[in-house]
Amino acid sequence: MRVTWTDLAGTEDGADVEILGFPLAAGAARQADTFLLLPEAGCCALHAPANTAGAVEVFADRPIALAGGALRLTGQWRVAEVGASGWRYRLLAARAAEPPGWRAVTRRGVLMAGPLMCLGESGCAAEPVSAAARAVLAAGPSVDIHSHAGNIASSRRIASGAGFTDIAKPMRQGGMAAICLAVVSDSPVHHLEGGRIRPYRDPDAGELYAYGTLAFQRVHALTKQEGLRIIARDADFSAEPGVVIAAEGADFLEGRIERVDEAYLRWTLRHLQLTHYRVNELGDIQTEPPVHGGLTAFGAEVIRRCNKLGIVVDVAHGTLDLVRKAAEVSAKPLVLSHTSLTTRPNPFTRRITPEHAKVIAATGGVIGVWPVIETYPTLQAMAVGMARLADIVGVDHVGLGTDLRGLVGSSTIGDYDDLPRLAEALLGAGFSAVDAAKVLGGNYRRVFAASV
Ligand SMILES: [Zn+2]
Ligand SMILES: [Zn+2]
Repeated sequence: MRVTWTDLAGTEDGADVEILGFPLAAGAARQADTFLLLPEAGCCALHAPANTAGAVEVFADRPIALAGGALRLTGQWRVAEVGASGWRYRLLAARAAEPPGWRAVTRRGVLMAGPLMCLGESGCAAEPVSAAARAVLAAGPSVDIHSHAGNIASSRRIASGAGFTDIAKPMRQGGMAAICLAVVSDSPVHHLEGGRIRPYRDPDAGELYAYGTLAFQRVHALTKQEGLRIIARDADFSAEPGVVIAAEGADFLEGRIERVDEAYLRWTLRHLQLTHYRVNELGDIQTEPPVHGGLTAFGAEVIRRCNKLGIVVDVAHGTLDLVRKAAEVSAKPLVLSHTSLTTRPNPFTRRITPEHAKVIAATGGVIGVWPVIETYPTLQAMAVGMARLADIVGVDHVGLGTDLRGLVGSSTIGDYDDLPRLAEALLGAGFSAVDAAKVLGGNYRRVFAASV
């Protein structure tokens, strides 16, 4: 039986089990026969969990290789007496399981040459992914719910009129059908400061509206150049690469509600993230001290207008208080497009706690998991992170938000041609083909259809 991290106590003492988790060994050892297994990647042995019932102590007869992030282990489950000192749960006679799709792969390990992720027998330049992984992608249009692909964002690129990078080709190669392509509306007023993105000045009157106009124009120029279809309604999703026009931060509204309607009509905006790296007119953000106590009255008005017009509401970057208020106000499911789960949040983290995630799930919404390489060094580790989120909120509320060409550091996902291997990793992490297809697009489609 598979052990679930949310219910370690529910596994019977002595049972033969399988468990997915992240190893933590003394001295950052590359292999060990005794180590701790955690539900999420730990930073170092100094930050071992304080809760003795929140980790599993692993004992193996032979050393287990620990490089590469997540592990899938089998062994015998042992539960210590309540009140005994030391760790509550143990896995004895542990062995690393190597299911199909679980091999360590390099980013370019699988090169897809055919027009649609190597569906045919010919045209595969290297090791093809399994038929099961291909079936996941063939089951329905996949959707990336947060992307800046094509290098659309940044005030520098907009000012210089920098060229675009390919989107349609990697989307076809990887079987990615649709991406929520987001303009970034507060770029002129934030910068990198000590490893964090922070606002450094107030915008001038009219500045972010004018910048938003340039940013939307750039997205439309890109979709035209790449021959990408613009998705305006649910029926527009198909296997042909398409784009949902999105905005990261509603700063371009500058507090004027009629600009929601304008963006809907003029730019075909269908996905609006309320806040970004600036505490704006709509509410508070995770990366700065709160000012508004969550969502502002204008933020609530924008949500109601989005519900009415048919725009997906995205609360990524918002504080938990903002998300709670948004959930009360919104008549439609909420999206939180790019983040990852943590039970040990650092101050000003962009990651979310189980409590935060459950608020989104309760609206019927979807949470996009983010491929930040420090969190998930491999696609396998990312798939385990997605499985962990599914354990907490249910598989219907998990999605993929790559933030492609938007991450400050490296990404676990190089480009959309990595998608088949993510599908394979999801199967390796225990998702059924049906559930993997939900995570890779079906869940967002449900929210989009309900909202637009
Ligand atoms: Zn973001
Ligand atoms: Zn972004």
